Amino acid sequence: MRPSISALILNGKQLAADVLKTIPSQVQGQKLFLAVVLVGNNPSSLIYVSNKMKTANRLGIETMLFHFEEDASLEDLLSEIETLNADPAVTGILVQLPLPQSINPRELLDMVDPLKDVDGLHPFNMGMLYEGDENSALIPCTPQGCIHLIESSGVSIEGKKALVMGRSLIVGKPLSLMLSSRGATVTLAHSKTRDLQKEIESAQILISAIGNPGLIKGDWIQEGAVVIDVGISKLDSGQLKGDVEFETAKERAFAITPVPGGVGPMTVAYLMKNILKANKLQQMSER
Ligand code: NAD
Repeated sequence: MRPSISALILNGKQLAADVLKTIPSQVQGQKLFLAVVLVGNNPSSLIYVSNKMKTANRLGIETMLFHFEEDASLEDLLSEIETLNADPAVTGILVQLPLPQSINPRELLDMVDPLKDVDGLHPFNMGMLYEGDENSALIPCTPQGCIHLIESSGVSIEGKKALVMGRSLIVGKPLSLMLSSRGATVTLAHSKTRDLQKEIESAQILISAIGNPGLIKGDWIQEGAVVIDVGISKLDSGQLKGDVEFETAKERAFAITPVPGGVGPMTVAYLMKNILKANKLQQMSER
């Protein structure tokens, strides 16, 4: 990796547009349907859900929102998921997170048919990923987008020291497995990690999925590192900010994602790819 004066900015918006361009021709002639289950009115969730549904519709994928009140009962939610599981017209089911405090997300996620689990959060899909079988599994969208962004920098993952910050089921844990499968030596850091700065200084590939704006200082970044910033926080000013101090980090990194316009659009693009994959896996399982 070369030390850089100013980093290559990994344009997630453009890359996502390139991914999405390939989708309509694959949808053609097939009826694909995404069911979105939303509980409550979390403002960010409302925006995310609307973006996902609009993108799907634009590509010829039908969508329907199953919007429940904040105080919906677990029984009602489970019953809706059972109905969607049993409906052959439904290709993908997405339970938008976070759920209200009163509901344990696992109770819903574990009920989704693994072949319709387009967020890749069912234990079957997580188990397949753990085994290293990415082809037969539905894998969480954000980690797939992160891998694509890293690869788009031209830097090979194999043999690199990678640091993943944040151990959530939707980003950090699956991403650490995917990087490991691709030959990186992976450290998975989290809230109990003692010397985060030291870990960051030795990372050639750095992915932050914490949600603490500007926590990672630019001068902690190793010269020539690839930096993927998954974190999105809304400041009081309304501005969206990542975990990494972008302006200083880009003076040291080889490549870096902006926030917004980095990982976010890639997540939506990979959701669309997951809907196609779910359809394919369902067709294969019927044979
Ligand atoms: P989360 O919010 O469930 O958990 C945060 C993680 O950060 C935990 O694993 C915790 O251990 C870790 N953490 C907290 N403080 C830390 C510290 N000081 N050092 C190291 N680790 C620390 O995780 P999430 O759902 O993966 O979300 C993380 C961030 O990524 C949020 O800002 C979220 O909005 C964003 N996100 C973005 C996208 C996208 O498409 N761009 C997708 C998912 C999540």
